[in-house]
Amino acid sequence: MKKIIQDYTKEELGNIVKPSFRAKQIWNWVYHKYATSFEEMGNLPKALKAELDEGFTLTPLKMLTVQDSKDGSRKYLFGLHDGHTVEVVLLLMRDKEYHEDGSVKHQERYTVCISSQVGCKVGCAFCLTAKGGFMRDLTAGEIVSQLLMVKKHNNIEANRRLNIVYMGMGEPLDNLDAVVKAVKIFSDPDGMAIATHRQTISTSGLSSKIVKLGKMDLGINLAISLHAVDDKLREQLMPINKAYNIQSIIDAVKGFPINSRKRVMFEYLVIKDVNDSIDAAKKLLKLLDGIKAKVNLIYFNPYGGTEFKRPTDSDMKGFQEYLTKRGLHCTIRESKGLDISAACGQLREQEGGGES
Ligand code: SAH
Ligand code: SF4
Repeated sequence: MKKIIQDYTKEELGNIVKPSFRAKQIWNWVYHKYATSFEEMGNLPKALKAELDEGFTLTPLKMLTVQDSKDGSRKYLFGLHDGHTVEVVLLLMRDKEYHEDGSVKHQERYTVCISSQVGCKVGCAFCLTAKGGFMRDLTAGEIVSQLLMVKKHNNIEANRRLNIVYMGMGEPLDNLDAVVKAVKIFSDPDGMAIATHRQTISTSGLSSKIVKLGKMDLGINLAISLHAVDDKLREQLMPINKAYNIQSIIDAVKGFPINSRKRVMFEYLVIKDVNDSIDAAKKLLKLLDGIKAKVNLIYFNPYGGTEFKRPTDSDMKGFQEYLTKRGLHCTIRESKGLDISAACGQLREQEGGGES
């Protein structure tokens, strides 16, 4: 099987292709010009192109489906070489703003939500990705290629600023080595140059891995999928809580290096009549006391066969108001892409459970 070119850091590639400046040229073709064949790499010698073509692929993912949402978000299903599939969502975060002379002040900001595994081992009760079980880890190159494909498909210029969230399918900290490698490849100034402070890893709370990631001091943002404030309920919703309880997560977060201008995001999936009481909000406030935190309330996104229900808008507002009035930063995640079922795992399910 051919190796995936995006699996290699620039330095690693420089050890494979000689002389090593060729690695930078290849990277320019891959990450700036979105080349899909070695043939088009005009400044490489013919022999090297043939050699690369023999051993490497530039296109480890196949675009299977694209779904557009009314709000402008776009959801992709990509096929891997072994027939598995993963989802990626492109979100448009802000509308264009103009100066008085008509020039663009703010461009819409892209955020790309990418997957780290096929399926997930964590098994959260509310998550569709969990239902299909775990298939395998993605390699760094398969992670990197997700964004590359989306950029090319949307004609997003190579140097355009964007944000990456590791919030698609899978638990990123359960595939830490590949995810960290992808973070580094994404942030390389000779590649896509996406600064680590524009990348956010979302985790169900593998405390020991949060500590390990923190020690690497990458400058990356952290999001914790908390979803419950007492261990009993959290164990029911997220079985991983038996291994890593809430206090262990809080302790890990307290030791995590955070950019002085940033906050740790705590995601709180609001499920009607399960975790949406004012008592829960009160406990959340206490739990996060002393942490530079922001809370992101997420509407539970229902799917066929689930017993859980979406909260009403007023439930959400009530919960949010309780927190903000007491000084906690708290936003409600807009239900972007809801009409294309943008919660993780939902497109894949529609397309037949992940096998193609
Ligand atoms: N495994 C990581 C990252 C992927 S899940 C994690 O759990 O953080 C990304 C986010 O989607 C998590 O916050 C998860 O709780 C949320 N999610 C899962 N199922 C959902 C659903 N049905 N509706 C809304 N959000 C959901
Ligand atoms: Fe895995 Fe995250 Fe889904 Fe839980 S919510 S099963 S950790 S992908």
